Amino acid sequence: MRPLIVIGNWKMNGNLASNQDWIKTVARGMERGMPSGRKYAVCPPFPYLSQCAGLIKDISLAFLSLGAQDASAHIAGAYTGEVAASMLKEMGCQYVIVGHSERRQMHQEVDEAVAAKALQVLDAGMTPVICVGETADERNSGRAEEVVCGQIAKQVSVLQDRLADCLIAYEPIWAIGTGKVASAQVAQDMHHAIRHQLAEFDEDVAAHVAILYGGSVKPDNAVELFAMPDIDGGLVGGASLNPQDFLAICQA
Ligand code: PEP
Repeated sequence: MRPLIVIGNWKMNGNLASNQDWIKTVARGMERGMPSGRKYAVCPPFPYLSQCAGLIKDISLAFLSLGAQDASAHIAGAYTGEVAASMLKEMGCQYVIVGHSERRQMHQEVDEAVAAKALQVLDAGMTPVICVGETADERNSGRAEEVVCGQIAKQVSVLQDRLADCLIAYEPIWAIGTGKVASAQVAQDMHHAIRHQLAEFDEDVAAHVAILYGGSVKPDNAVELFAMPDIDGGLVGGASLNPQDFLAICQA
């Protein structure tokens, strides 16, 4: 059985004081008890990883893991401004988001680069969270499934069996930060299509890989989304900034 996983993506938000409040509030909430068989993580901006890792350790917050929002496709060297996967591992990260649509759109990241980043993350001993998703135009022109399954096929061709150690996040671009959540059925249909695409490569990989939904997940829609058979949790942006909302989604 696949565990339910909720990952918060703070994007470029937070500061030393608010991060501390967030972790302490989430710790208090989690200590009151969480549903079993679930995993939770938070992905702060790079400069705050060390602070958040320290807070999580000091509070002995066993429920919460640390993740990063991106990693370099290279091991080390002359790549000014980039951060290597091995550095993120040293900072205590267990997850790294790769191929977020904001990186694909604003930094021209293509599927090959996303797969190269995922390989670096795997080689460093962490779990890549590989994001895929279609634009509003692609959905409105009836090409959503073709586009998303095409993105998955590119990852399969590079990562092969190693996909078993990855997470996939289906994040329709029209739903990210817009408040327009995909209906639970629309999301389920795409998750099913992704799993079917993975099964064409390997049935076992398809059965084991957790597929998270991302795009305006909130406390009031999480229950319905997470109840779908192929939705294994959420990648949560805006709502993860509020610790009470993040907790409510984790408990959904
Ligand atoms: C995201 O950025 O991964 C995301 C899903 O954002 P939001 O929840 O704000 O739509």
